[in-house]
Amino acid sequence: MASNPSVNTIVDSPVLTLEGNILWQFENLSEFGAQTLKMQVAHGTLSGEIALDMSAAPPKGPGVTRQGAGVPEMHVKLSHLEILWAFIYGWMVVYEESVQKPQLDPTKVMDAETVNLVDRARELLEWSASLRETYTPWPAGLPSPRRYATEQEEWYGLKANLVYQKAVAYLLSHERAHAALGHLDVMESADGARLKLDMEKEADAAAYDDLLGQSLDDREKLPESWAVLSVMLSTFYLYRDPRKALLPGGHPALHHRVAHMIERLALTDPRYDYYFSFLCRLVLQEVFPEVLEPKRQFDDWEDALTDALDRLDQLGFEP
Ligand SMILES: [Zn+2]
Repeated sequence: MASNPSVNTIVDSPVLTLEGNILWQFENLSEFGAQTLKMQVAHGTLSGEIALDMSAAPPKGPGVTRQGAGVPEMHVKLSHLEILWAFIYGWMVVYEESVQKPQLDPTKVMDAETVNLVDRARELLEWSASLRETYTPWPAGLPSPRRYATEQEEWYGLKANLVYQKAVAYLLSHERAHAALGHLDVMESADGARLKLDMEKEADAAAYDDLLGQSLDDREKLPESWAVLSVMLSTFYLYRDPRKALLPGGHPALHHRVAHMIERLALTDPRYDYYFSFLCRLVLQEVFPEVLEPKRQFDDWEDALTDALDRLDQLGFEP
């Protein structure tokens, strides 16, 4: 990645440790994905360079732009790459240790080490959610891909790294698809705004195929499922007012993108289907506590997620 340092830049970000993994994953998404990327670069329809914006500013999603008649180039913000890792690691620890395990064995009491693991993961999530207001550097004592305080943290960190590199590859692949599908020409045309929603859906579908091109079974699909859902769910952390994400703007309404992704993943084993739907419900609940506080019991996860989506629809349309 080519960086462009300026005065206010992020110094020594721990996610840069994973730069090699990210690029490797993007270049080897799936056989199909790798081939389309290589062809685009060879035909000069996409730059092989990815611009890395290191400014110490609130995170924003990536993009692909073209200067005049130049070759389109993808760009990502380092602050976005940081919150994405923190989101994946944080939610993975919180979900597995404080929700999944107690459900499997309600009699088991959490030991002190695990309490500490979960607390520190929560702190990391709080930091990542705070970046939408003002950028602050990665808290030095908290877990990062470069520093784990315990073996437990390292175990989750390595799991998070695998999901993370797939998540970033999905994001980049979405931008790659915009360039490949001729969207840049359309966006510059008069009809651009009207067609934007369709183009976003197309780019999502292409990125999904890039990542999950070969048929995988439920178990093999676990890191990919975590990856694509984290990309969607962490987007709520980019909005100062997350309610704005509930209305179709440049992209389809975010909670519908989440629901669509769950459908597309089509996990056949009910355990895995439950696992991810429940995760989505929990994240949505935390982003919108005012409407989704767990006020009632649900018969199953499907009810719980449908209930969340309905309430968010209403919230999105309230003046
Ligand atoms: Zn897009």
